[in-house]
Amino acid sequence: MTPASPRIAVLGAGTMGVMTAWRLVERGFAVTAIDDREPGHSHGAAGGESRIFRVAYKEGRHYVPLLRRARTLWQDLERASGERLLLPTGALTVGAPDHPDVTETLASARTHDLDVEVLDEDAAARRFPPHRLLDGEVIVVDRAGGTLLPSAALRAAAGRARAHGAELRIGERVLDLKPRTDGIGVVTASGTTTFDAVVSALGPWSRRFWDLLAPAIEVRRVVLAWLAARDPGGFRPAAFPPGVRRSGPGGDFSFFSSLDDRTVKMNLHIARTVLEELDDPLVHDVEAAYAEQVAATARRYLPGLETTGIRLRAFFDGYTPDGHGLFGPHPDDPRIVLMAGFSGHGFKLSPLFGDIAADLATTGETAYDIAGLDPARFRKGAVA
Ligand SMILES: Cc1cc2nc3c(=O)[nH]c(=O)nc-3n(C[C@H](O)[C@H](O)[C@H](O)COP(=O)(O)OP(=O)(O)OC[C@H]3O[C@@H](n4cnc5c(N)ncnc54)[C@H](O)[C@@H]3O)c2cc1C
Repeated sequence: MTPASPRIAVLGAGTMGVMTAWRLVERGFAVTAIDDREPGHSHGAAGGESRIFRVAYKEGRHYVPLLRRARTLWQDLERASGERLLLPTGALTVGAPDHPDVTETLASARTHDLDVEVLDEDAAARRFPPHRLLDGEVIVVDRAGGTLLPSAALRAAAGRARAHGAELRIGERVLDLKPRTDGIGVVTASGTTTFDAVVSALGPWSRRFWDLLAPAIEVRRVVLAWLAARDPGGFRPAAFPPGVRRSGPGGDFSFFSSLDDRTVKMNLHIARTVLEELDDPLVHDVEAAYAEQVAATARRYLPGLETTGIRLRAFFDGYTPDGHGLFGPHPDDPRIVLMAGFSGHGFKLSPLFGDIAADLATTGETAYDIAGLDPARFRKGAVA
């Protein structure tokens, strides 16, 4: 049982960490967030310029109530910080109407009465000419979708947290954790500080600290590619919203509007390199052959992009076997809230997940249904 005014530590001030700190201080709690890097840095899971926000959700219609609430919180953060963080571009899903991701996107829209539109090949060619569709493919337009700006968003949340009195210990690395009966000791190079509750939001690094999470998280490299547009005007957010393409081998990727009026970003959804050592500088090196795969995909599906001079950069996230995050109280110590393994789709949900983490750290429960994210579900002997 946490005391009335618990001392709460948030480990990691990355995506989930700063959002948790922001939501906790908004409720008047004393928070210390610790990270060895500045919020908004590009070395963790939040790097790479932009993120897609979708509400009609291929990952499962049960996410829709969470996504709607997340959208409201993004708008709250925009208002509170005065920053543009969620561009109202809409979001697209491109593929055959019977592709499972297209059917689930449409089923989630039907179930929750979402504002979506389905364009057949001809209508798609008129409205979104940069996309070359295969026979019979459709484009589903999710009008409540958008483009998130991750670095600005994390800086904004950190700014709100600081303004409300959060202590952000930046430049300090968490070295060890010592749960005791009188509190949880958090060890850094400057000593041990004891807290009543701890939210662990260490992203892909969580494996190092939690035996429970280590076997459930695979750290995968995600390579982003920027290609020059021949006619950049045709790739601006209104003309070319971000989205997901499902056209089979060589045609599974996500695409992002041009934000610099020059280049367009692509992310191939292909087998990803599994990383063992996150601090290895080689993590950011991408094989030159990768550019050829990107070029082949662009030539076939987005022919308005230049396929020479492609810029590549690698990032990473923690992936679980079922593709859903690990989020909830530690089963053996409810003073600890675990959040990790968001499997390439956690960013859009982060303000809400921060809010839920604030519920869990201060009351031990939440009204939101996150049972499917139970961090102990991959433990040996866990009932699925
Ligand atoms: C390239 C890419 C594209 C993506 N696209 C999308 C998308 O379009 N839409 C979407 O919704 N999601 C997307 N995602 C997923 C989403 O960005 C992640 O799921 C989310 O950012 C994970 O947040 P996190 O808090 O778990 O990790 P991070 O944001 O990485 O936070 C972890 C933090 O812990 C800190 N840390 C680590 N070790 C220590 C330590 N010992 N001491 C102190 N601090 C420490 C790190 O510095 C870091 O700041 C994408 C992910 C990637 C990689």
